[in-house]
Amino acid sequence: MTPTVDKIISLVKDIKDKDKNLIEKAYNFAQRAHEGQLRKSGDPYFTHVANTALNLADLGMKAKTISAGLLHDVMEDTSITKEELTKEFGEEIVGLVEGVTKLGTVKYKGVERNVENLRKFFISVAEDLRVLVIKLADRLHNMETLEHVRPDKQKRIALETLEIYAPLANRLSMGRLKGKLEDAAFQFAYPKEYEEVKKLFLEKKDADEKYLIEVKNKIVQKIKEAKIKDAVIDYRQKHLYSLWRKLQKYDMDISKVYDIIALRIIVDSIADCYHVLGLIHGEWTPVPNRIKDYIASPKANGYQSLHTTIFTGTGGIVEIQIRTHEMHEKAENGVAAHFIYNLYKEKKVGDKNIPKQFEWVHQLHDLNQHEDDPEDFLKTIKMDFFKDRVFIFTPKGDIIDLPEDSSPIDFAYAIHTDIGNHTQGAKVNDKTVSLDTVLKNNDIVEIQVNKNANPSSKWLDHVKTSLARKQITNYLKSNSLLSRFLSFGKN
Ligand code: MN
Repeated sequence: MTPTVDKIISLVKDIKDKDKNLIEKAYNFAQRAHEGQLRKSGDPYFTHVANTALNLADLGMKAKTISAGLLHDVMEDTSITKEELTKEFGEEIVGLVEGVTKLGTVKYKGVERNVENLRKFFISVAEDLRVLVIKLADRLHNMETLEHVRPDKQKRIALETLEIYAPLANRLSMGRLKGKLEDAAFQFAYPKEYEEVKKLFLEKKDADEKYLIEVKNKIVQKIKEAKIKDAVIDYRQKHLYSLWRKLQKYDMDISKVYDIIALRIIVDSIADCYHVLGLIHGEWTPVPNRIKDYIASPKANGYQSLHTTIFTGTGGIVEIQIRTHEMHEKAENGVAAHFIYNLYKEKKVGDKNIPKQFEWVHQLHDLNQHEDDPEDFLKTIKMDFFKDRVFIFTPKGDIIDLPEDSSPIDFAYAIHTDIGNHTQGAKVNDKTVSLDTVLKNNDIVEIQVNKNANPSSKWLDHVKTSLARKQITNYLKSNSLLSRFLSFGKN
């Protein structure tokens, strides 16, 4: 179905007339440019770009990005030239269209080509995040219409979505988009597993729903009695792909997964969040070790909520998530929408204005300056970028962003090579720990330095970052060369 321009515009909050006009102009221009072209599904080609624009509006993007979404295939697939497009829409929008076009030109042909594809992709990402968001919106519509694509291509595109696009959406805190991409890709990437998980899900869901409704009714009443205003209570179902990932950790035993459906309580203020949590724990017994305060300690991508799991007292177990309206909006659509807009509107691209969770944009840019061999590049990306990350604090309160499972050695090298090279010991949250300790989100780490201490080859077993690995290897290499040189001199 082709969304109307009014539908797209209706999703943009507080839109000004000139922005409305811009979107309308781009809509009509793209419709004429793609006239007569069809998609594999038999739909007019314009349907695809209009849906891409709809996705962008839904993600909270502004008029220029939405217009570039409408125009994103014009230069590649029609006779419209760059000059014509620039005359009509200006350099900024054409720059975005060009960025998206560039990303689309390289096709996957084995590992080497794919890496080159990735590299180009990331270079443009670092230049303008809006290009990435348009690409994600474009990919989402392509995933939703993947059934019309040749079967051998389906699997390749679906895997690429799971391995590259969904993690990128996650890094932008676009939780809803990530879930949509993964669920659309799952059935094409792993059809057998998809069917299996879907079956398990439906069986368990029915049983869980009964307990959920029970708990919900009582909570509604409690919240009313406590006079907590503007509370919204609903459910969220776990996305099938993330359920599958979780089931793999539990040998596919679905009885161990408590959050197939979870109750979600959205309130006005942080104080209300803790108030509601208190009401719940006053009524039901919480399952031990399942209370998570992501409000006080947000996840690495900025996610905030209180999570708890309770015994219903009638044989069931229910997970409950509590957050403010603002946190909810951010979790669904990402801090990215807001951040990206401000970044380009006010041209604040200096390091100081980059929120902590977006520092990776700069790291990627640095990574692209090195023309290492493609295999290495891919490994680095997979390790440092796609793995979930943890935030570690220095005793002074500076935050260091590291991949999950990093050790104090990774932390030391992330601060400075000299500190890494002379690390003797470490304290985590004021307790002395061994250097192979796995750091957790929000740990405060203090490195003890001794000028006589040096890296050992054993350290290589305990590091996760390519930076630490590289520095240790460098040290060991130059040191053994030196010792050979010295012993040579003695002979
Ligand atoms: Mn497209």
